[in-house]
Amino acid sequence: MAAYDTEAIVLRSIRYSEADVVLALTTRERGRVSAIAKGARRTTSKMGGRLQPGVRVQVTIHEGRGDLGTIRAASMIDAHAGLWVAGHRLQAAGCVLETAMRVMPENEPSEEAWHLLVRTLDLLARAPAPPGPARLDPLVLGCQAKLLIVSGLMPVLGSCARCGGAHPLVAFSPVAGGAVCADCGAGAEPVEPGALAALAGLVGRPLAEAPDLVPAGDAAGVERLIGLVLREHLGVQLRSAAPL
Ligand SMILES: [Zn+2]
Repeated sequence: MAAYDTEAIVLRSIRYSEADVVLALTTRERGRVSAIAKGARRTTSKMGGRLQPGVRVQVTIHEGRGDLGTIRAASMIDAHAGLWVAGHRLQAAGCVLETAMRVMPENEPSEEAWHLLVRTLDLLARAPAPPGPARLDPLVLGCQAKLLIVSGLMPVLGSCARCGGAHPLVAFSPVAGGAVCADCGAGAEPVEPGALAALAGLVGRPLAEAPDLVPAGDAAGVERLIGLVLREHLGVQLRSAAPL
């Protein structure tokens, strides 16, 4: 059986049997993959302790007949220990991992998506907790906004997505592909200008600046815009996000 070494971030771990877990991983070499870690649930397993959601590891994956690989060895690159000492950070990381899980396609490596995820977890592991729920943390929203770009789903925000005009943008139409003016707003969702501006900022600026780009009052609006795009284009509703 073929095997490959790759850096990976654990997105999700599901108990598979008494001793084994099935992991969803995003890998640098192969994109998102699933793999079974045999014996990882045994208390004597060194591997099990390393393969927690959010950690960055070096793994060797043996390819199986189906889609499920087998992890035979894992070594820690970064445990992101800071995530585990604060509830807010761990919850925020959970939102990011769920987004990666649902948005990134299987077996399609993306250096951009890889670096984005690494950077987000690095920042979250040492970030102070902003006020409000973890799902509205600007770093979470910033990572999600940038994942839209990586996925080719970034909405038009600077001019009307229907007529191209530079009129004030008062609504958001996922079908039209972005913000729309009052003339083109039939059937579109009303939107706060602040949320549009914040989303545009998150897209255009480095992730580390996210906390300065999203006023607390606009965070829920940004979450909603991202949610509308994901629902329209991928049929995805994030469990960690507020219902649309
Ligand atoms: Zn228009």
